Amino acid sequence: MTYSYTQISQYLSCPRRYRYRYLDGWQEKDTRASMLFGRAFEKALAALFRKEDPAAALFEQWSACKDMGLTYSGSDTWDRMLLQGVQLLERFVQDNRIEIPHPNSNQQAQCSRPLSSGNDFVSYIDAVGEIDGTPCLLEWKTSSARYPDTPAGIAALDPQLVCYSWMTGISEVAQVIFVRKRLVEVQYLRATISDEQRQEFATLVDDTVRQIESGLFLPHSGIRFPQNPCTTCPFIGLCLNEPGLVDASLVRKPGVDLGLFDELVY
Ligand code: SF4
Repeated sequence: MTYSYTQISQYLSCPRRYRYRYLDGWQEKDTRASMLFGRAFEKALAALFRKEDPAAALFEQWSACKDMGLTYSGSDTWDRMLLQGVQLLERFVQDNRIEIPHPNSNQQAQCSRPLSSGNDFVSYIDAVGEIDGTPCLLEWKTSSARYPDTPAGIAALDPQLVCYSWMTGISEVAQVIFVRKRLVEVQYLRATISDEQRQEFATLVDDTVRQIESGLFLPHSGIRFPQNPCTTCPFIGLCLNEPGLVDASLVRKPGVDLGLFDELVY
C-alpha cells in the first residue's frame, strides 16, 4: 500500500472521514473554485520558472475550468480570481526572492520512501530552489486569507512542511502563500525543520499506518469550537444519513486515489 501526507492528515483529523474517502471511494465533487484555481495557479508558476508566459498559462488553465459549474466562496467570481492571479504573479516577479535552478526536474518532484511496515510513502514536492539566496524546499499555497506569521519561524509547526522535510532530508523550508484579497499579497514564511521533528514525523506516520491497518475508523466528530471538524466536512451527509447532502457534495469513484491532488492545493 502507498500512503501520502493527505491520507495521514485525513486519518488524524477523523478516522471515519478517512474510511469514506480512501476505503469507500467517496470524493468531494471537483467544483470548488478555490481548489481548481490553486491548481491552475501552480501551473502558471511552473511556466514562470520555465521562462514561459505565466499569465498566459494561468488564463489557459483557468479558462478550462470556466464552464465546470464552479462553486465560488464569498464575493469570488471567475474574472475576479483571474485578475487576482495575474496581480499575484506580477507581485511575485517584482519581489524576485525565489530561484529554481533546473526547473524541469526541481518542480513537482516525486519522492518516495519505504515504511517499516513494508508500505511506501509518496509525496510531490512543489519545488526545490532558493529563497533570498539560501537553498530550501518550497511549498506554494493559494489562499483567500493570510497565514499566521508570528512568532517568527511558526511555519516550522506546519505538518506538511515537516513531512516534506522528512521525505527529502532538507532542513530549510519555506511556504510561499499567494493571498487573494482586495490588495493581493505574497507571504514568504521561512523555517528550519530539526532532525527531531523529522524523526517524530516518521514515528507519527508508522503509528498512523498501524492504526489504519488495524481497521480502526472511529469518528472524531465535533460541531463546537475548537473541535468542530464536522461543520466543514464534505462527508457530513454520510454521517447524518442524508442522501440529498451526499448527492450535492460527493461522488463515488472506484479504485485507489492517494489524494495527491488535494496535497497540491491545501
Ligand atoms: S462529519 Fe464529522 S464524524 Fe463524520 S466524517 Fe466528517 S468529521 Fe468525521
